[in-house]
Amino acid sequence: MKHLDPTLQPVFEEILARNPGEAEFHQATRELLDSLGPVVARHPEYTDAAIIRRVCEPERQIIFRVPWVDDAGQVQLNRGFRVEFNSALGPYKGGLRFHPSVYLGIIKFLGFEQIFKNALTGMPIGGGKGGSDFDPKGRSDAEVMRFCQSFMTELYRHIGEYTDVPAGDIGVGGREIGYLFGQYKRITNRYESGVLTGKGIGWGGSLVRTEATGYGTVFFAGEILKARGSSFDGKTVVVSGSGNVATYAAEKAAALGATVIACSDSSGYVVDEKGLDLDLLKEVKQVRRERLSSYAEARESARFVATTTGGAVWDVPCDIALPCATQNELDGDHALALVRNGCTVVAEGANMPCTPEAVKVFAEAGVAFAPGKAANAGGVATSALEMQQNASRDSWSFAHTEARLEEIMVGIHARCLETADTYGAPGNYVAGANIAGFIQVADAMLALGVI
Ligand code: GLU
Repeated sequence: MKHLDPTLQPVFEEILARNPGEAEFHQATRELLDSLGPVVARHPEYTDAAIIRRVCEPERQIIFRVPWVDDAGQVQLNRGFRVEFNSALGPYKGGLRFHPSVYLGIIKFLGFEQIFKNALTGMPIGGGKGGSDFDPKGRSDAEVMRFCQSFMTELYRHIGEYTDVPAGDIGVGGREIGYLFGQYKRITNRYESGVLTGKGIGWGGSLVRTEATGYGTVFFAGEILKARGSSFDGKTVVVSGSGNVATYAAEKAAALGATVIACSDSSGYVVDEKGLDLDLLKEVKQVRRERLSSYAEARESARFVATTTGGAVWDVPCDIALPCATQNELDGDHALALVRNGCTVVAEGANMPCTPEAVKVFAEAGVAFAPGKAANAGGVATSALEMQQNASRDSWSFAHTEARLEEIMVGIHARCLETADTYGAPGNYVAGANIAGFIQVADAMLALGVI
């Protein structure tokens, strides 16, 4: 790991000391600080006002008990989190993750990333994240409902359309947002549409929100290709994951002429040289909620490789890789395999899926690498479009909303490149995204005083 700027080293040491045991949060903060050397050199006012120290400390962290009763009548216990990280640009905004791996360090890393991602969208939204160690896998709808109701019975007092606006993330989709919104409405006696995003289309949701993160990642990758005189047409693409982000990234890449030949879940991956059948994938993963092996069983051109073989979806040769599963899923060895097989573009649909070693491999090999805070910002950007529609009691067409999303992604891409140029790192999307997002938040924090 390269050395930090001397003014930033003590800041990082303070983060390590104040947040013990939170490896993912350390990784996310370190990754930002790695880009900020040229910024502190040009802007001593940020150091004078302790902006970097302040931006790394959440404004508020809420941790609460979530008891609920399962279908067998047993009392179950989970822990709920909401980290309201930064509200310099607008109400806290960011998803809720329900997954057994969730603990404070994961929510803080996600909340931290969200601050700069949200700034890059150009929309008036601050950064936050929440969730629980609840595992929805294998739970009935009734159990998920009771869990969501218990979760919201505490969360409701901390959120609101001008305060904090949660949405989905891993383990939280339309079903969960419905139960959460229902309980919020019941407790507050308010039909406050703008308190949550990712709502159903019939009750305040926005068209394109479901597709937005995956589509946005592909729009971003398309801009990278365009800047290199290329396009998705005729390319092979591998996505990881098979949830919402992966499915719609695959859908848009295929619509732009690529062949999406592989995707994965925690049980393994499928390779389908004919191109993934996305209707079948949606049926298996979203409707039946089954493992990917069911996809391979139903389709002759596909083969399933189990995780237990030790292989990874990144072993499949491709031109473009879109990691859309979860943090740290693509390590240095995976990156070497991709480079060896001729991959030239990597865009993160998930949050921090590539380890620092992987990012280094891509940089050294000249692979274009787009970090999640830029490449996957389309999801939260479309949440902000949902908030706009809610505020004006309007609902936009699919075509209009998708055009807005594309315009936002094209804008983020341009802003990353311009900022990278200005700060002496031409073509470096990591530096461009970190610096552009940070400066926007830092300037707002300076203007708002020491709060
Ligand atoms: N969870 C998504 C993200 O990582 C979306 C958050 C939102 O829409 O508020 O950006």
